[in-house]
Amino acid sequence: MSFEIKHKDLLARIGKLKTKSSTLETPLLFPVINPSIQLISPKRLKEEFGFEAVITNAYILKKRFQKEPIDTGLHKFLDFNGSIMTDSGAYQILVYGGVEVNQEEIVEYQKNIGSDIATILDIPTSWKVSKEHAKETVAETLRRAEDFFKLKTEDNILWVGPVQGGRHLDLVAESAKTIGKMPFQIHALGSPTEVMENYRFDVLADMILTAKKYLPLNRPLHLFGAGHPFMFSLAVALGCDLFDSAAYALYARQNRYMTENGTWQLSNLDYFPCSCPNCVKETPKDVQDRSKKEIETFLAEHNLFVCMAEINRIKQAIREGRLWELVEMRTHAHPALFSAMKKIKEHAGFIEKFSPAVKKRGFFFFSSIGLARPEVLHYRNQLLKNYQPPINSEILLLLSQTHKKPYHNTRKYKKVKRLIKNVTGNLSEIVHVCFYAAPFGVIPVELDEVYPLSQNEVTTPFDSETKDYIATLTSEYIKNFDYKTVILLNDNSLWDNKIVDSCKNTCAIKKIQFKELEVNTGMNKDILACLENILKKQLSD
Ligand SMILES: [Zn+2]
Repeated sequence: MSFEIKHKDLLARIGKLKTKSSTLETPLLFPVINPSIQLISPKRLKEEFGFEAVITNAYILKKRFQKEPIDTGLHKFLDFNGSIMTDSGAYQILVYGGVEVNQEEIVEYQKNIGSDIATILDIPTSWKVSKEHAKETVAETLRRAEDFFKLKTEDNILWVGPVQGGRHLDLVAESAKTIGKMPFQIHALGSPTEVMENYRFDVLADMILTAKKYLPLNRPLHLFGAGHPFMFSLAVALGCDLFDSAAYALYARQNRYMTENGTWQLSNLDYFPCSCPNCVKETPKDVQDRSKKEIETFLAEHNLFVCMAEINRIKQAIREGRLWELVEMRTHAHPALFSAMKKIKEHAGFIEKFSPAVKKRGFFFFSSIGLARPEVLHYRNQLLKNYQPPINSEILLLLSQTHKKPYHNTRKYKKVKRLIKNVTGNLSEIVHVCFYAAPFGVIPVELDEVYPLSQNEVTTPFDSETKDYIATLTSEYIKNFDYKTVILLNDNSLWDNKIVDSCKNTCAIKKIQFKELEVNTGMNKDILACLENILKKQLSD
């Protein structure tokens, strides 16, 4: 196996990918090298910027340099001693409609120059084409993939099997399912560039997740042409391990300055919001006064630093189990990116299945978007499928969440516990105390120290979708178990009347007793006295 997964969060992985030249850590960004015009040499990319791998285009190499890279070897030709990936010319098919090479020639060429990672000559599915045409691109790519294994003799290259289908998700699924059965070492999602250029990150999210569902998860997934650092974290979270980007250079040519949240025209900047070695020494004014070539180099270098810093930030977030927070933050950089974040909800079950349930650190819950988090979904499934309330409990006493956690250590709970003990004596297990709380719904007090029920911070007041979710989940909980009475201490300053209405309804349907006490003012003597009366009455019944 050339790919070994070390750490996971959401669908993201930190992994080790072994090529014949080096061992690479994923997620990994391959800067695109244009062998004809390269502002920053491949050697500098490794030594000064830390890029262990680069990608270049075998089709362009063959067309411009023919036998030269074969004679010298690709690594020497580019003067790069890391790993080199080659693309086959598929992108040129997309842009120019065709290439003057067939698959057999380009496969052979990639072998002969000594690529570490190489790509078959797939047919990209353009954004604009009809479904019929899209079908043909998938069928032809699959045909070529099959043919490739007839050509392939033993070699030490990692071969990439691209998934096509474009925005047609049924085709992406079919393409992934079929190519995933062939013995490629790496897969790639083809044709995302146009989707990104159109800012359809929601479609991109669907494409990635559809491919992920049908591809073998133990192989890395490459996202072709993922240019901008503001979407790296999203793509990694959805399961992309490898990226290539020419954007650092293309943007620089247009005087565009990348940040992890967007792009600036150099002329619009009064200050550099960056602490890379270039930006700390200069002001935008200094840089603008230089020659075109110098400006371009300055910007390309800065853009590379920003890309590398973002990849490192993503890896750190994976290690800490806080990639969700990073993605949530980044996707606020543009409404179209946030649309992709909202898409995650539709695939939450799939992401939950593969994301670790226990992490090093707690998490932050900002808004209803966080309800799609794997931790939230995981707990919900456990609670409704595997949990059993204490065996003698008959009365469910629901308290609203407190700022302090764990809940069983709060003064509110201690007062209630004392009262229960006084009223019920040694029958105290008859009353089961649970907290209703965002984002988890119902938290039985005996579980409140289980990760991550206490290891989270939430934003209040809650948005309406969050209140609805908690109200629904609380009702489901009541529906699921056999309590005879439900007593709700209703804090409607936090919950409006959503919880009380929904619980009341459910109890009516189940024909069990429902009692409500308003506690907006906190747990004072009057409320405790009322609660005491209710409990006494319940016990005497
Ligand atoms: Zn900078």
